Amino acid sequence: MGFKEDYELEYLENEAESLVFKELEDQLSEDWAKDICKCQDCVLDMAALSLNTIKPFYRVSLLGKVYAGSLTGSDYTDEVKKAVTNSIVKISSNPSH
Ligand SMILES: [Zn+2]
Repeated sequence: MGFKEDYELEYLENEAESLVFKELEDQLSEDWAKDICKCQDCVLDMAALSLNTIKPFYRVSLLGKVYAGSLTGSDYTDEVKKAVTNSIVKISSNPSH
């Protein structure tokens, strides 16, 4: 048996992902973003750039549920907001298509 078979590594989740996706959704629906391209390529580029900018936030999904709530209003969520705004501006001014 290998390490991957011995341990259920899929319980490891990067909380940054769900925060970035939610933040992207919110910001892209705001008025200032109404003329910004929201095609598959651009939005995935924005998500990737955001996630590469911020620190990851891993938790174990079975035991770590409490964490998610406690992130609200924290410095970390501020970082996520800023990273997402920067990514939207950067990608939309230089889209890959
Ligand atoms: Zn696009």
